[in-house]
Amino acid sequence: MFVRWSKYLLPTRKDAPAEAHPPLRLMLQAGLIRRLGPGIYGFLPLASRALERIEGIVGEEVEAIGALRIGLPHLQPTGGPPGSTPGGFRLTDAKGREFVLGPSGAWVAVSLVAGDINSWRDLPVVLYRFGHGYRDAAGHWAREFPLHEAFSFCADQESLEETYRHMARAYSRVLARCGLAPKAVKVPDEAPGEESSLALVVLGDKGEEEIAVCASCGYAADRRLARAKPPAPPPGEERALELVETPGVRTVEGLVGFLGVSPDQVVKTFLYVGKKGALAALVRGDHELEEEKLRRAIGDHDMRRVDHPDEAREIAGAPFGYLGPIGLSVPIWADEAVRDIPAAVVGANREGYHYVGAKADRDFKVEGYLDLRRVREGDLCGQCGAPLRIKNGIKVAELYTGAAGTTFSDRDGRTKPVLLGRYTLELHRILEAVVERHHDDAGIIWPVEIAPLHVAVVVLRPDVLEQMEFAERTASALANSSLEVLLDDRDRSPGEKFHDAKLIGAPVMLVVGPRALKRGEVEAERRWDGARASFPAEPAAVVEGVRELLRAECS
Ligand SMILES: [Zn+2]
Repeated sequence: MFVRWSKYLLPTRKDAPAEAHPPLRLMLQAGLIRRLGPGIYGFLPLASRALERIEGIVGEEVEAIGALRIGLPHLQPTGGPPGSTPGGFRLTDAKGREFVLGPSGAWVAVSLVAGDINSWRDLPVVLYRFGHGYRDAAGHWAREFPLHEAFSFCADQESLEETYRHMARAYSRVLARCGLAPKAVKVPDEAPGEESSLALVVLGDKGEEEIAVCASCGYAADRRLARAKPPAPPPGEERALELVETPGVRTVEGLVGFLGVSPDQVVKTFLYVGKKGALAALVRGDHELEEEKLRRAIGDHDMRRVDHPDEAREIAGAPFGYLGPIGLSVPIWADEAVRDIPAAVVGANREGYHYVGAKADRDFKVEGYLDLRRVREGDLCGQCGAPLRIKNGIKVAELYTGAAGTTFSDRDGRTKPVLLGRYTLELHRILEAVVERHHDDAGIIWPVEIAPLHVAVVVLRPDVLEQMEFAERTASALANSSLEVLLDDRDRSPGEKFHDAKLIGAPVMLVVGPRALKRGEVEAERRWDGARASFPAEPAAVVEGVRELLRAECS
């Protein structure tokens, strides 16, 4: 069956709505999605079809490696291990019981099978599901999103690594079939205790993730984790510590102007409160502190930055702008670059004063030196020394491993922990990445394998019986040969119809018009390269011609 545009819900728009996140503009314009609230989107029929195709490919590829489909509830009971539902939504039922809508169903999947998978004979097993994920966090366009997740339960590290490799290969095949060539990127663990966190990211100019990439050696990491070579220390000699009056000077720029030093001679002090109380973190004046690195190094994912002046005064005895490590009674962690400043300017923990000539390990004690610096474009790659670039990207897949929190008995009857692999594809982001990688100024260019429509049959004069009849017969013939067909029978100008056909991006546009039909021909145009062809006005010949056009896809 083919669909008629006049009866289909495909509301294209002339102009791109001014949406904050660029890849969404085209999706809104081409009638794929609509925004229903902050971070809440609905999928219109064209997008639902594309998602269905993506799901079909995912199902094929993961079942090919033996994964079994399960169903999990969206609404999850609370009571999972700490951090098992990071960033989810909590809600309460009428009786006051708590539930979670979370970004992952991992621990629910574990609970589902824990009672039934308890012998070495049951392992390994890989389960998968489709569902929805929920994320109550900034920096993501969708707070609820269509999701595929797989879970592998394994008896030992070797088996876990093997299923991990199989899953990674299955995901690569899924994404290649969607026309995407993602890069494997090291990312922070989503939940404490997980390891081997790897994301597949489609790099480009758009997207919510920031990835540091080295073109020379191929290094790629989430910007929050990326490591660059430590920078050269500023020039200068060690000197004696001296307290100087700095009235009203509270910023690095202010100190540079007031004292005539360079920003790399200044040390910035930040206060945090974590599980074990307050602590301080130091970075050089020309660097930014990367909180994620500090969190991971300290092993405290919940610590928070002190941002209230009263709290800063309570901990350090001074307001923001005058904080410093000397005389501070909380543990101090410093970026590696701080160690090598021969004579640093630091706050004196006294309003209106700084120290000059400060030296780490001489004037203040440091618990440890860490990599706490946020990498910048042009920093030198930690592996090979070539300049790093910061790129944007769309994270489409994540792979984690960790412990399942359950046990099994091995061949000898000993109780051992089950090892868990968790694998996620965010389907809305695959859709976003496909639109972002496959479009031009006129609109979307769907890769054939996931195209929600293969052929748009444009009837120039639907009011002319002869044209309409031929178009309908042809559309039927195309649909009967397993192609998805949209017949544009709307009462619109040819210009509007061509515009819309390009916008929605069907791989082939077939034009049924009076002049060509008089010659006994129909004309076709291929979306991805503009190649044109004409076929005899005979449904069987058109089907053959269209199939030939679709076959030659190159990405
Ligand atoms: Zn490199």
